[in-house]
Amino acid sequence: MYSVGLTGGIGCGKSEAARAFAALGIPVIDADQIARDLVIPGSPALEEIVAEFGPQVLAQDSSLDRRALRERVFTDPPARKRLEAILHPRVRDEMVLRQDRLDGPYCILVIPLLFEAGLETLVDRVLVVDCTEDQQIARVAARDGVERRLIEAIMASQIPRGERLARADDVLDNSGDPRELTAQVARLHARYLQLADHASL
Ligand code: ADP
Repeated sequence: MYSVGLTGGIGCGKSEAARAFAALGIPVIDADQIARDLVIPGSPALEEIVAEFGPQVLAQDSSLDRRALRERVFTDPPARKRLEAILHPRVRDEMVLRQDRLDGPYCILVIPLLFEAGLETLVDRVLVVDCTEDQQIARVAARDGVERRLIEAIMASQIPRGERLARADDVLDNSGDPRELTAQVARLHARYLQLADHASL
């Protein structure tokens, strides 16, 4: 199936854009959701994470304490690499499996670290959702209630904005009102229907 990889920095509006595609009936696969599904209690991925980072990344109920893990890895780049080595290959495999089961004219794969993890080859087209860095910080602070320092550390671990934009096939400008984002998604949807149609000839 024709696939569009939707990416963008933290807080740029990937989830918001994905919801707009889903509202148009387009199936969406979310790499973050897969990463959450992969670390349920008893899973091999969670066992590997605990072996690597210790039981302090577990909550009382033995589930992964995502906040503790995030604090741990985003201030320690080698630790982040070790976490990614555990998660990324599994997320990639699961995305391919789920994509095989989908039905629709095309699908959206939400992949926050698409460029960083070298996953461009997994998709037919790359769509970047973009806003200013100040907007990213303000929106993530409002959404997650986390400190600016942590948001900046996460942003610094991601590909720089200019490079991300330069590598995009299409860009959604989410520096305005959410309604403007929805309107841009509707225009891109028409284009993706055409592209998917041509690709299937
Ligand atoms: P991402 O999935 O890329 O991390 P989200 O889609 O969760 O980003 O958006 C980050 C936060 O900003 C969310 O709380 C979302 O509701 C809000 N948001 C998204 N787009 C806009 C916008 N155009 N104007 C104001 N707030 C927005």
